[in-house]
Amino acid sequence: MIENRFFPKADGVGLMTKQDRTAWLKGGDAHCLMPPRKPLGKAWHLVLLGAPGVGKGTQAELLSERLACCHLSTGDVFRTAKSSDEKEQSPAIQSALGFMKRGELVSDKIVLDLVAERRECLRCSGGFVLDGFPRTVAQAEALEELLEREMVGLTAVLNYELPLEKIVARISGRRVCSKCKAVFHVETRRPQFEGICDQCGGTLAQREDDRPEAVEVRMKAYGQSTRPLIEFYQKRGLLITIDADGSPEEIYRRTRLLAMGR
Ligand code: AMP
Repeated sequence: MIENRFFPKADGVGLMTKQDRTAWLKGGDAHCLMPPRKPLGKAWHLVLLGAPGVGKGTQAELLSERLACCHLSTGDVFRTAKSSDEKEQSPAIQSALGFMKRGELVSDKIVLDLVAERRECLRCSGGFVLDGFPRTVAQAEALEELLEREMVGLTAVLNYELPLEKIVARISGRRVCSKCKAVFHVETRRPQFEGICDQCGGTLAQREDDRPEAVEVRMKAYGQSTRPLIEFYQKRGLLITIDADGSPEEIYRRTRLLAMGR
């Protein structure tokens, strides 16, 4: 789904379109305003794995822009709900936001209900890149069933790896646009004007769960609940492990090389 505006590519060359994610972010009766851009070749169906701060969100953005697939992030759904009027938030969402603020995982039940409600997005003709879901084995099993029912097969699961000290540096400098959710970094991906989003002019801020105490909880949750997914997808022959050190463009090129031929 395409937003009806253009923005410069990350490398500053040419123009490209950004997928509209209205149906995914809002759920319910919401639908995307523009039909998805048809990919030139096959549609990609990707799952991204990796510890918090490894750069999954940035790669998901680049992959979705360049492969024309929709960026489906469960974290973005929660952040969108958070910025909505409190009276509009269901009790389930309010409870989810409490977990998120502390850096804990939201319950499988809430996450799976949210994804099931948006299962149409898994059939988006542009394909998808799932970022932050699944995060537990129970979620991965549920996704497998959901995709089977929708008759969609995963192209690959991209597992980004980075040493802990580099992860900490990335998280502490990360800034996110409060409006369009684009991700910047105070040192490695600086916006043109400090504190202002290059893409929509929104205000950049640190995520609440990027504070050090919440990061510690998130790293623990990753080790206990999400790391086992590496083996889960390895057994299914879908896993591609990618070194996440370097600039976003370098990692993107590495990703394309490794995922080529899938
Ligand atoms: P993310 O932006 O993917 O790091 O997600 C931010 C926060 O949202 C996480 O720390 C969790 O609290 C919550 N969250 C997002 N996706 C999931 C998921 N698949 N399972 C459980 N919690 C999630």
